[in-house]
Amino acid sequence: MIGQRESVSGAHFAFTDRWGGVSAAPYEELNLGGAVGDTPEAVRGNRELAAKSLSLDPGRVVWMNQVHGAGVAVVDEPWGDRPVPEVDAIVTTRRGLALAVLTADCVPVLLADPVAGVAAAAHAGRPGMVAGVVPAAVRAMAELGAEPDRIVARTGPAVCGRCYEVPEPMRAEVAAVEPAAHAVTGWGTPAVDVSAGVHAQLDRLGVCDRAQSPVCTLESGDHFSYRRDRTTGRLAGYVWLD
Ligand SMILES: [Zn+2]
Repeated sequence: MIGQRESVSGAHFAFTDRWGGVSAAPYEELNLGGAVGDTPEAVRGNRELAAKSLSLDPGRVVWMNQVHGAGVAVVDEPWGDRPVPEVDAIVTTRRGLALAVLTADCVPVLLADPVAGVAAAAHAGRPGMVAGVVPAAVRAMAELGAEPDRIVARTGPAVCGRCYEVPEPMRAEVAAVEPAAHAVTGWGTPAVDVSAGVHAQLDRLGVCDRAQSPVCTLESGDHFSYRRDRTTGRLAGYVWLD
């Protein structure tokens, strides 16, 4: 259910694994993504189960309509009946409001400045990392009073640089923007390390309190991986402030 959980000065960070939910194959068991072909009833049930296991109100969790861009929305309440915006980062100053990001190989990025009371969740796949979604989220946090040297940053399970094979021109294109993302697969071919790129971006912004999940989604049978399985579920990362 919850594969990893941490609390730092009243800021809470959690990442799910694929077990403990109600979805049938190929979404078994805890698919939290609403746009992957699973039944809406199963997704709703899973979101309730995950929220309860984190002592969160499922109605106080904000989700995004992720599009692999760099758009950021500031939120202070759930969307309700309003359309869910197409953004890849959300930021809040509302304590107790949880922000959620969905992934299956992309990097889920959770950020919080517990002193300023600002939290953010971002979805950084290869295109989003190159587009700068994480720096955009940090800038939006700073506009709300956060300071990079107080921001706690946690990235969750994602496909690792030894597994994420890409054509050489794509690796070159990514590395031209973010050299830290240049990688080589375990079998010696061009690859991209999106997590390394995200952490390099955060480091340059002065975000020093960083940690990266050791889990590679493609290698782990306990996590969803789009590159491994194509039709599969989505993991979630949650961040919130007391
Ligand atoms: Zn790997």
